[in-house]
Amino acid sequence: MKQIQLIFDGAEKFRREILEIKQRFPDCITMIQIFYDKARQTETEQLIEILKQDYPQAHYYGCASNANIENGMITEGSILAVCTIFEDPSTKIEIYQYPLTSETQKEVCDDLLAKVSERPWIKGIELLITIRDMSTTYFCDRLSEMDEKIQIFGGSSFNKNLDRHDVGVFSENGGFLDSGVVFTLIGGDKLHIQSTYITGWKPLGQKMLITRAEGNRLYELGGEPAYDTYYRYLQIDNDEFFYHNTLEFPIFYERNGINILRVPSQCMDDGSLIMTSDMTTGSMAQISYGDPQTILKSIFHVAESLADFVPDGIMIFDCASRRSFWGSEDINRESLPFQTIADTAGFYTAGEFHRMGKSLNQHNVTLVIVGMREEDAGVSNKSKLLKAFNYNNEHVSMVRRLANFIDVASHELDETNRKLESVNQQLLKMAVTDELTKVFNRREIQNRIMQASKSGKKFSLIMMDLDYFKKVNDTYGHDEGDRVLKQFASVMKKAAASAEFPVSVGRWGGEEFMILAENISSGTAFALSEQIRTEFAKIPFAVSGQHTVSCGVAEAQEQENYDAVCTRVDHILYYSKHHGRNRTSTEAQLPEDAAV
Ligand code: GH3
Ligand code: MG
Ligand code: MG
Repeated sequence: MKQIQLIFDGAEKFRREILEIKQRFPDCITMIQIFYDKARQTETEQLIEILKQDYPQAHYYGCASNANIENGMITEGSILAVCTIFEDPSTKIEIYQYPLTSETQKEVCDDLLAKVSERPWIKGIELLITIRDMSTTYFCDRLSEMDEKIQIFGGSSFNKNLDRHDVGVFSENGGFLDSGVVFTLIGGDKLHIQSTYITGWKPLGQKMLITRAEGNRLYELGGEPAYDTYYRYLQIDNDEFFYHNTLEFPIFYERNGINILRVPSQCMDDGSLIMTSDMTTGSMAQISYGDPQTILKSIFHVAESLADFVPDGIMIFDCASRRSFWGSEDINRESLPFQTIADTAGFYTAGEFHRMGKSLNQHNVTLVIVGMREEDAGVSNKSKLLKAFNYNNEHVSMVRRLANFIDVASHELDETNRKLESVNQQLLKMAVTDELTKVFNRREIQNRIMQASKSGKKFSLIMMDLDYFKKVNDTYGHDEGDRVLKQFASVMKKAAASAEFPVSVGRWGGEEFMILAENISSGTAFALSEQIRTEFAKIPFAVSGQHTVSCGVAEAQEQENYDAVCTRVDHILYYSKHHGRNRTSTEAQLPEDAAV
């Protein structure tokens, strides 16, 4: 496989060059990608006529571009013909072209998927596309359905003028289309493709939830107008420099588990941002930063791995917004490393396509790099790359250090917040808990009963008082008394936890406890009370033996207020105290004249 790049510089010169290729490689398959400045479409048509007449067996296709990459360097306003010559007889190329709009994209995808499934030889698909107002989410999702071993890569057509939407694609299978897509299916026994993408931009600071996005309009981040984030963190004003200022800080987010960058191209009056492509509500987003040294290092790592692949030719689909970021001379710093590995050609796009694993994604501010070769890999070109570029020993930039500082500081802040939150929870718990018995304290159980009586819903109260408890203290000491209280509390808690209705246990004072049982009547409350009473009576305390408790149960009556129901349950409990203790009384058991 060979890659030969021709710059169109007059019909005669081009004819000579193309005939030379034809003679040099008589039995080969030639694929010609043509990237052109839209303002030079007439000359591009001339070029196509030459191909049709003098090299009819060559496969050609192309698109309008923002600028081209020739031998790893940017050329502006050029018409670049990248001739890839496949020398292995098993290599195959097929090109399909479709008009494309939001309405036709389903049909296009259906048709392409059907073709692909009938062609098991396909290893890679290059796509050149016009995006215009169309969202590519559906398009990408559908193409992701094809066999995972097929690599997909490409770029969208663009204009030299960033504000002009004058774009187009074409191929041997049709004329120029303002809205269209060209697919080039490539495969063969000896063909190897390695495609990858890289941004070099790094996420910075807090992750924010995308709370509202529709298509490529990002309304809200973390419930606030999306623009506010740019103003708050970066003090970027909404003026004519907005696009250029945000270019260094695009939004970094995840789609299908893959990191994607999106640049806001415009800020609307309502604070929403028009992004270069779709964003999804519910995804997490972060601001990211671009720093020349960090980017170059990342690019160098990708170049290293591509050098080991030993490609015969490299294609680059590079985002035009990276040109704005670097400036027109420094932009070459990110494509030249690849030229040391193999001849490198490509163009500047408005959206880069790359398939990672199963899913095809449209990126922005990204470099898609594709290496191809026939035959097995030769000797790695890494030494050439290392000789020309070595960023490993370069001084770490100030931006990188500050970004690291922010990263560490925000992680530390997160950690402190987490600790504070847990202290807060503990304090809240302490405020409602009785220290000795760990059931609710008097204030909390009172609050709960008050709320229950205001709610108008059914509830019952169980009041419990340990029998002859003073004697326990007097005979065995206060510590033993405390032990009995704790044990009694745990019997109540256990019963509360296994109840099928809400139960709150509180310490009313001293050795008196109050249980609020919601949504149940006195019959069920009586059973709960008896369960606790009998359970407790069975416990043999090592020092003081067995103990008992007297209980009263009252179901709140309609319109009965807090004071009334508490007084009533207290009276019922004292009925138990005066009738032998170690028992549960209810209103029903009280005699008519049971005013105690
Ligand atoms: P009765 O069966 O009539 O309820 O008799 P009683 O002795 O339990 O009643 P009384 O109200 O006279 O005594 C309650 C005792 O509970 C008095 C106090 O010493 C004891 N007490 C209250 N709070 C605590 C505590 O936190 N720890 C211990 N060990 N004892 C407590
Ligand atoms: Mg008592
Ligand atoms: Mg008492």
